[in-house]
Parts: sequence; C-alpha cells; structure tokens
Amino acid sequence: MRYLIIISVWFLSVMSMGFAQDEAEEETRKITIIHAGTLMAVAGNATLERQSIIVEDGKIKGIKPSYVNEDGDADVTIVDLKDKFVMAGLMDVHVHLASRGDNPADYALNGVTNAYKTLMVGVTTVRDLGAADDTIFKLRKAVADGDVIGPRILSAGNIIGVGGRDNGKECNGVESCRRTTRDMITSGADWIKIYSSCSGGQFCSNEEGAPMFFDDEIEAITEVAKKYEIKVAAHSHPRASALHVLKYGVSSIEHGSFINDEAMEIMIREGVYYVPTVAVMDMIEEDIADPESDPEMVAHETKFYENNPKKIYEAYKKGVKIATGTDAGVVPHGKNYREVERFVELGMANADALKAGTVNSADLLDLSDDLGTIEVGKIADIIAVSGNPLEEIKDIENIVFVMKEGRVYKD
Ligand SMILES: [Zn+2]
Repeated sequence: MRYLIIISVWFLSVMSMGFAQDEAEEETRKITIIHAGTLMAVAGNATLERQSIIVEDGKIKGIKPSYVNEDGDADVTIVDLKDKFVMAGLMDVHVHLASRGDNPADYALNGVTNAYKTLMVGVTTVRDLGAADDTIFKLRKAVADGDVIGPRILSAGNIIGVGGRDNGKECNGVESCRRTTRDMITSGADWIKIYSSCSGGQFCSNEEGAPMFFDDEIEAITEVAKKYEIKVAAHSHPRASALHVLKYGVSSIEHGSFINDEAMEIMIREGVYYVPTVAVMDMIEEDIADPESDPEMVAHETKFYENNPKKIYEAYKKGVKIATGTDAGVVPHGKNYREVERFVELGMANADALKAGTVNSADLLDLSDDLGTIEVGKIADIIAVSGNPLEEIKDIENIVFVMKEGRVYKD
C-alpha cells in the first residue's frame, strides 16, 4: 500500500511537470517594438535616427538600427513613434505627493491625483522628500502593485527637523535624533530628509541664517542612516547650513540657495548632488509681481530670485553634479518639466538639463543599473515628445507617450 502511494505521488509529479512544460512551450512571447524616429538613448550622447526598441517583460531586450517588425516568433505590438523624439523616463527627485490637505483622506486623494499627473508628464520615477504622515508609504506600495497609476516612488517619509512643524518628526538631542531616524527607516523610508535650515518661506532662511542642528544631532542622524545604508538629503538655504551638513556626509543638498565656493568644492570632491529646485522661481516670480504680497516677503524672495539662478549656473560650470527636483507640492504637480526648462533658461546646455533629469537623477537614487537611459537590460521606462528638446527645451512639455516598466500609460 505504501509503495502504491509513493508510486502514485511520483507518477502525478511527473505528469504535472509534463503539463507545466507543455504550457511553457505553448505560451508565445509577448513583446512591444517601439519605432523611434529620433532616439536619445543616453542624454548627453549623440541621438540616433530610425531605431527599434524591443521591450519584453518590462525590460529593454534589444535596440536595432532600423525599423523591425518582428523578433523571432513573438507576438508583437508595434508602437509608432517614427516622427517623435524618444528618451528615457524623466525623474523628479524632490516632490511632495501626499502632503497637502487637512487629514489622511486628503493626503491619500491628493497623493493619487498628483501621482497620476506626474506620470502623465513623463516622470516615471520620483523621490518624495516629505509627507504629512505614512500615506506616502501606502501610495508607494499601491503604485508598485499597479493599483494606482503613478511614477515609481522612493520616499523619505516625514522630514526630520528640530520641531515646530506640523508634518515633521522631531530630533532634539542625540538620543532623540537617533530614535527618530531609526524609526523613520524602520517604518519604510528609502531616504532620510532633514531640515537643516529654516524653510524658504521663513526669513531665517536668508543668506545669513543659522544651521538648525547641533553638531552631535546631525552626526547622530547621519550615523544611523549610514548604519542602515540609507542616504540623507538635506534641505538647506543659508550659506552656513550646507557647509554644516556637508561635514557629516549627506548625499544631496536640496535648494542650496546660498551655497558658497567652499560648499561647492566639498560637493565636487565628495560627489554630493545639488538639487536646486529652481522651478520654485515660478512661484517666487508670481509673488513678486503680485501687488497684494507682503513687501517684507517680497524683499526676502527677491534675494532668492536674484541669487539662485546665478548660483546654479556657477555650480554647473564648476562641475557640481546636478539633479532635477521641482519641489512639486510647493509648486504645482504635473509641471515637473519646469526644472529642466529653468536649467536651460539659466544657461545650462539642453543636453545637460536632460541629463540632469535622467542619468544624474538615476545616479543620485542609486538606480543607474536599471534606469536613466535606454540600454539593453534596463527597465523599460520610455517616453516620447513631439519636437526636439535638444533644440527647443519647451518641447519637453509635449509628452505624447509614456511607458513605465514596459507598460504603456499614455499613447
Ligand atoms: Zn521640498
């Protein structure tokens, strides 16, 4: 009887293996072939004409130098972008998707809407640098699971600061800073975001403003982050605050409004990224022009307006690595292209602005092996615009096609 059972089990296993094999053999490969009129595979490199990008299982399987219509016996879907400019999905490394509103329901609804708007303008990856509660972690999962349409999200959770903010987590003294940082990481943060200076809307964010943390506090934060191999992004406006946090090994300076030569030199030496969020100048411009604005605030903002674009150009010329972050949430979501447009307005070459939004941003996020370019083996995050943003940067607004991980979201 025992032998009979063993033999039956063996027989059934062999049978089911046989079925599994048959099923695998019968299943036809499903691929998408994109016919790209102009392909900027790697921003900064020469473009190629009349290319075919073969996408399978969410990845780039091949790039062929002409228009091909088949790949073996695969079931093919052709995407005709013969008169379009095709490039890698854009990134925005400084957004706040789920931070506006009065309660968690608002955060969730706004988060879903903002995620959709962001993807529709060709941004396939974002780093969220500060949310009101843990809604952002749920949004990150919902997008990853395919339940919500949006860009891939890396999230810092709540911002760590010295207190006094509604949406921040407090760090006061070494123990508190350690605990807060560790809690944020164990809650699921991909990054740590710190407020190392006042926010731009406060007068203490001016050039002479003071750094927020004590040495041992910032040291506690960066030590914990390092232990968990999590990078730290530091919000910083005044001259002294960037210099302060740079001493302790942060990976990006956000805003960096009044960074000086010394800070830039450290950033070049240590490979620290500058995320200048110059798209915020749109809002500052409006405030300055508005006769209803508070004159004292206008004076404060004018200093940023006159200083920041020049500073960014200086950093660019010196060779500081620059990535694109709009601070969407402070400025409108779905206009994430404003950062590269502003980069070009302040003197950056079009190709370098597009590189900041793809290659550099992927590098900052440690995603270069998978994203940032259109190369064989990478994840298929591919967008297309009409026109040519290498000649006219405003063409980056004309997004006609968005693919994220091989799936088409806009065509
Ligand atoms: Zn921000």
